[in-house]
Amino acid sequence: MTDDVVRGAALIANGDGRFGLETIEVDPPAAGEVRVAIVAAGVCHTDHAALRWPGPLVLGHEGAGYVEAIGEGVEGLEIGQPVMLNWAIPCGHCAQCERGAAPLCERTHETDVARLGTSRAHPGATRWRGRPVERAFHLGTFARYTLVRAEAVTPLPPHLLPEVACILGCAVMTGVGSAVNVAAMAPGATAAVLGCGGVGLNVVQGARLAGARTIIAIDRVPARLQRARELGATHALLARDDDAGHARLVAEVRALTDGRGVDHAFEATGVPALAFLPLQLARNGGDALQVSGAHGPATLELTDLFWNKRYLAPLYGGCVPARDFPRLFDWIAQGRLELAALISHRYPMEALARAFDDMLAGRSTKGVLRIA
Ligand SMILES: [Zn+2]
Ligand SMILES: [Zn+2]
Repeated sequence: MTDDVVRGAALIANGDGRFGLETIEVDPPAAGEVRVAIVAAGVCHTDHAALRWPGPLVLGHEGAGYVEAIGEGVEGLEIGQPVMLNWAIPCGHCAQCERGAAPLCERTHETDVARLGTSRAHPGATRWRGRPVERAFHLGTFARYTLVRAEAVTPLPPHLLPEVACILGCAVMTGVGSAVNVAAMAPGATAAVLGCGGVGLNVVQGARLAGARTIIAIDRVPARLQRARELGATHALLARDDDAGHARLVAEVRALTDGRGVDHAFEATGVPALAFLPLQLARNGGDALQVSGAHGPATLELTDLFWNKRYLAPLYGGCVPARDFPRLFDWIAQGRLELAALISHRYPMEALARAFDDMLAGRSTKGVLRIA
């Protein structure tokens, strides 16, 4: 327990695309809160999008570190304990939670501190230049210290270091969960995964864990396809710029699935124009899942939905933290879910611009910031 305000580095976006390395101060935890010293944070496309959210904003929503201070009434955590952070916390009693749809909890994005379902700490707890500052997803993991509600903190098992676990909270959960929870892939199923970045590679892993018979990875970058094969893809198709209307790609996927198309086709590119392409890769009665969270307009040929095809845009891999994180930890311990190999680049906080460049150009599969 500590009464001290702490000061530490933080990457702050100003709302018009620019950002800088600044110093913030963070209150000690109030009742039900935990202050975490972050050591590593994953860089995600959403962080890049957040550069244009209303600012100033402490960036970052994937991260892990050590418990640094604990508020009153918090049970099951100790100072110095390694933990990961999670931005989506079902409240357990809104209409969506009660109908069993915890990932759609209506309170996850609320700002009312008195209610569960948000990681947000008490108002004004984080300050920059003497004034309260907002944090991405109420976490702001691109900062040395973050103050969150205890429900946002998941203790890590001994075999898992924060330096690696920092990518679990978004990329891994979204990818693996989309295959295992949302598509609910069955043993022997077939899948196509369009885009083999941080999320797509984890869809490949989720499909493998579910026992898929055929996993077709698709990307424009040969190195990413190689990585997809190492993680469980049974086939790799190189997407080509001269493939008008993707006719060749669709034909190749059909050729690998007895002319039928796959049971589950995933889009993980973040490119709006590709959002409906999975409908052409899915078999009749199959499903197309847009898991990249792409924003913007896209054109749909309505006949692509014929023959009972389903189109879903699942959020965060259908995450139910209490069920899913222990399961991910077990798979990692058993060597069935690869984590460290997904991290292709590590950067100091000063190099966030380079991390974004590498991500947007497809040079990195997953970049991680070292927080100090
Ligand atoms: Zn709820
Ligand atoms: Zn993310």
